[in-house]
Amino acid sequence: MIQYALLGIAASIIGTQDDALAKYVYPLAKPIASPAIKIDVSDFPESRAWAEKAKEVVAAWFPTVTSLLATEDWKAPKEINIVIKKEISAPAWASGNTITVSGKWITQHPDDLGMMVHEMTHLIQAYPRNKVNTGWLVEGIADYIRWWRYEPEAPRTRIDPVKNKYTDAYRVTAYWLAWVSRKYDKRLVPALDRELRKGNDPMPVFEKFTTKSAEELWKEFVASKP
Ligand SMILES: [Zn+2]
Repeated sequence: MIQYALLGIAASIIGTQDDALAKYVYPLAKPIASPAIKIDVSDFPESRAWAEKAKEVVAAWFPTVTSLLATEDWKAPKEINIVIKKEISAPAWASGNTITVSGKWITQHPDDLGMMVHEMTHLIQAYPRNKVNTGWLVEGIADYIRWWRYEPEAPRTRIDPVKNKYTDAYRVTAYWLAWVSRKYDKRLVPALDRELRKGNDPMPVFEKFTTKSAEELWKEFVASKP
């Protein structure tokens, strides 16, 4: 009987250690299969080859991106539409289950398939309205997925310690999120995503996982000379 009791103690010690180690492991949700993807190049038929390649990227990465975010209770749309327009006022945008892409942009930047990963992340985020301003973080997470998960080999964006701020969105926020995740806790981004899915203020997540405010974490990041 003593052996069993000792085994029990050993198991509880290991259990405690597991929790202490959790911050070193990126938590993965169960991957969700890609919905059917339809492409529409009627406004810019020259883009068919690019659209087919974009469809491949989205189909291949959809399950991975759903596993990188807190999608446990999320229902994927039945279908994703990729629409190429001759010219729009941005390189691309995502709305509902549709990604609209500028034909002019992809003609000038045919290598920018990573843009599809950013836009697809928005489809998977599908956050409800938040009571605080979280636009910068929504874009930061989409760029984190793109630049630190899909193409982590890309050159790092330059951080200007005077002009930049963690609320700058896009690559600046993404770089900072990656740095904080690595230094403090790899569960950070999925935890932020989870709060955003509930429409909650995500800022307490920083304190919870690092004991520091976003402001303090930005100062530390800048001091590390990124
Ligand atoms: Zn975006």
